[in-house]
Amino acid sequence: MKTRDRLRIAMQKSGRLTEPALDLLTRCGLTFRQSRDKLFCFGEGEPVDLLLVRDDDIPGLIAQGVCDLGIVGRNVLNEFQLTGGVDAAPLHEWRPLGFGRCRLSIAVPHDMAYERASDLGGQRVATSYPGLLGDWLRTQGVDTQVVTLAGSVEIAPKLGTADAICDLVQSGGTLVANQLREVEVLLESEAVLAGPQTLPADERGDMIELLLKRLDGVIQVRE
Ligand code: ATP
Ligand code: ZN
Repeated sequence: MKTRDRLRIAMQKSGRLTEPALDLLTRCGLTFRQSRDKLFCFGEGEPVDLLLVRDDDIPGLIAQGVCDLGIVGRNVLNEFQLTGGVDAAPLHEWRPLGFGRCRLSIAVPHDMAYERASDLGGQRVATSYPGLLGDWLRTQGVDTQVVTLAGSVEIAPKLGTADAICDLVQSGGTLVANQLREVEVLLESEAVLAGPQTLPADERGDMIELLLKRLDGVIQVRE
């Protein structure tokens, strides 16, 4: 692949992480001219551009070298590490960013008895995170059927397509609304700065180091 001399950061085009991610980059001194198609934002001061995409595509874009860094939920990054395929270059969580906090949890219907992981034996659990759930079930030594759904996971028990769910939880309001009870936390998540394990040995690597320094300053001020 032709090497680029400008740094390219992938972030969510439209969603929970969009505003706080842009805000953080602005605090790091980066400014962008928004292009008309809003997929690509040209950086004005520094040689840093933005690619606005679906959050699920971010780890793959970094692994393929299309982008140098990405701002994405740890849940999405770790799921990619587990399911991205053998060709996927290993990625690294360079910094936790302190926003987009949530947890990946298992929740069961109120009328289902649950005390320990073994209670999931022989049950079906619906999730959009088959990698993370499968990994956890293996560490628990439980034989459970993982039902992979792209969305609306929380209604699966009502529909009868699963006995329990494994989904992202923030306030717990969605669980309550669906008569579900949170019983296990598999992952504490927040937005992270993701990148390759080794930084490029050119100007982009220098720019990343500068950006990490600025990030550390901004994050420290916030805490
Ligand atoms: P996209 O169109 O980019 O695929 P999405 O619907 O997958 O969007 P959002 O719902 O905007 O994504 O969530 C983005 C990230 O925000 C999640 O991956 C997660 O890290 C974080 N997050 C924080 N709280 C929640 C929550 N309550 N539910 C879902 N995600 C949350
Ligand atoms: Zn998504």
